[in-house]
This record gives sequence, C-alpha cells and structure tokens, in this order.
Amino acid sequence: MTLTKKIIIFMVAGALLGLTINLSGLNENPWVSEYLINGLFHVIGQLFILSLKMLVVPLVFVSLFCGTTALRDPAMLGSIGGRTLGFYLLTTALALGIALTFALLIGVGVGADISTNPGYVAKEGKSFIDVILSIIDNPIAAMAEGNLLAVIVFSILLGLSATMAGKAGEQVIDFFKAFNEVIMKLVMLIMHFAPYAVFAILAKVLSELGLDAIRALAGYFFTVLALLIFHALVVYPLLLKLLSGLNPLTFLRKMEAAVTFAFGTSSSNATIPVTLRTVTERLGVSKSVGSFTIPFGATINMDGTAIMQGVATVFIANAYGVDLNSTQILMVVLMATLASIGSAGVPSAGLVMLQGVLLQAGLPIEGIGMILGIDRLLDMTRTAVNITGDSAVTCIVAKSQGQLDQSVYDDPNAGVIKE
Ligand code: ASP
Repeated sequence: MTLTKKIIIFMVAGALLGLTINLSGLNENPWVSEYLINGLFHVIGQLFILSLKMLVVPLVFVSLFCGTTALRDPAMLGSIGGRTLGFYLLTTALALGIALTFALLIGVGVGADISTNPGYVAKEGKSFIDVILSIIDNPIAAMAEGNLLAVIVFSILLGLSATMAGKAGEQVIDFFKAFNEVIMKLVMLIMHFAPYAVFAILAKVLSELGLDAIRALAGYFFTVLALLIFHALVVYPLLLKLLSGLNPLTFLRKMEAAVTFAFGTSSSNATIPVTLRTVTERLGVSKSVGSFTIPFGATINMDGTAIMQGVATVFIANAYGVDLNSTQILMVVLMATLASIGSAGVPSAGLVMLQGVLLQAGLPIEGIGMILGIDRLLDMTRTAVNITGDSAVTCIVAKSQGQLDQSVYDDPNAGVIKE
C-alpha cells in the first residue's frame, strides 16, 4: 500500500470518529474533552505539525541555495523568477474574479443572521509597506521567526555569490548538496508518522465542530467550498493543458500526498517538504526550479485564501446590508491580492489578513466573528488549493524552460513512497 492511501484511510477514520464523538454529545464530557480531544488528539497532531515546522527553515534555505547554484546563469534565474511571479499573480486574479462574480450573483449572505457574532477581537495585520520591508532581514533572525521571504532572498543571494566565488564557492556548494540530501531523508522519515497525525487532527477538529456550526453558515461554507473545488479541478487543469500541454489528470493524481498534508496541517509552509518532493520526484520538475518556486509560492501565492476572502467580503457586506459599489469591489480585488501575498502560509493567516480587505472596502471587521467558527475546515481546504496552485504554476514554468522531465511526469509510479 502507498503511504498516501494509508493517510487517506486514517483521515477518513479520524473524521468519522470526530463526528461520532460530536453527534453523540461525548465532546461535552469533561474527561473526553480534556484527555482525549485536547489531550491525546491535540498532542499527536501538534507534534507532527511541529516536526514539519522544524524542517521548513533548513529545508528552504538549503534547497533554495542548491537551486540557485544549479541554475547558475542569472538570466535564467531572472526569467524563471519573472514568469513564476507573473503566473502566481494571474492565478490569484482568476481566483478572485471567479469568487467575487459568483458570490455577487448568488447573493451569498443576504438575510444572514448577524447576531451570531461571538465578539471578534481585531488583531494587527501587516501593511503592504511592512511586507516590502520584511523581504530583507538579518538571516538568523529571519530563520528564527520563520520569515520565509527574507530567508528566500538571503539564500538566493548567497547561492549567486557561491557561483561567483571560484574554488571556495565550489566547496560550499558541495557541502550544501550533501546537506540537502540528508534533509530530504529526514523529510521521508517524518512523513511516515503522517497517518497517525492526520487521524488525530481530523478527530479533534470534527469532534469540536460538528455539523451544527456548518449548518448555520451553510450558504457561506458551501459557496467557498464549491469555488475552491472548482478552482482546483477546473481552472488549474485548464491552465496546465492550455499553457503547457501537460495531462491534468496525471497532475491531480500525483498531487494526492501534498494535498492530504496541506489539508491535515492547514499550513502551506509546513507542507513545503512534501510539495517540493511531489513536484521534483513525482512530476519531474528539476530540483533547481522546484526548490525556487515552491517555497516562493507557499509564501506569496494563495489562490484558495483569495477565494475565501472574496466570498467572505461579499457575505459580510450582504449580511450587514451594504451594497458594494464598483470602487469597493476594485478595492477588494486589490487588497485581497496583496493580502494573498502578505499572508504567511500558516493556519488562519488568511482570516487575519481579511481585516485589511474589509477595512479598505469600508466594511465592519466584526463581521469576521460570524465566519470564525467554521474557518478551520475551510482553512484546511483552501491550504490544499494554495499548494495545488503553487505546483501547477511550477509545472507550467518548468515545462516552458525545458526543466520538466516528461518521462517522470508520465510515469505513474515515479517517486511513490511505499509503506
Ligand atoms: N492556512 C493557509 C495556508 O497556509 C493560509 C490561510 O489562512 O489562508 O496556505
């Protein structure tokens, strides 16, 4: 059996257990709540997410360094960087356009009950200028704080310098190449614990949430869900087919493991090790391109998040009886694109950034309180879409630069991990 199949079986079992606990009212039992849901399930899930976090900074740093030195030619790096950024922005714009149009058409949130506001407390979001200034930092501080954008910039600059530094540069490159292999080995070891972690995470989320919360906000919930699924199953496959002639079904099938991880962890950053492995070993993208585009995408490209923000804005406007005019809608598009770049790939980041979108559109941020309760489930799904977008763009860019090995892409067994 493949590891991914095992993960999916455990995930479904965890979800069923969680729902059973919730529907039978067992979650109200203090013992179950303290020792099982917030004890055992919580600890197992968190330990796994923490071990992925443990990997992210060293992995991004080392693999991006190796990627940069493998590309060598600055012109090549520039054209890959430029194309990647262009496609990331394009997919985000598409996501937002579709989300806003659909949400406005069906009038999501009209007549919603705004009294279900559990008192949302606004947190500080990042301004656009903050995002720009966070690109460069003391590398040790950036690594400690998990500021991936600054880590990315530092390792690209260091990689470029290594290619120019002659013999000394070569020694450093050899060392990091070996280091890279060792880290990928560690990724593989940790992935074997995924099934148990995903079981625990889903059991916890569903035993706490249950169906009532979803039922109350069904209109919003299912609109976001449907659009996320549409984007993943229609928009990306179309782009892959039209722009690079790649078989979309092969792509979707091979994304299974990364999607499951993203769903389980709600974090694009934590999923980087798996996404990177998927595009390089399963989809045949060269390591030099994948190790550049995947961490970059996990940091700035969040189409799923943009979809949620677009629908949430319309939902809140309608619930408060505000008619969005065209200036406001334009503001939403602009702000949500920036928010998608500024959101970190960690759980709930998109919800925090939604404040900025609402503020700029002149809508009440307390509206977030309404959708807070069910955000976790949508967060899981949108994170899966976010990393699918990163991978689709990676394949398109790699193919256009002759950096995708078609025989690996077409081989159904390439890079499969057996249990
Ligand atoms: N959790 C998402 C991610 O990591 C970000 C978000 O909250 O939308 O991609």
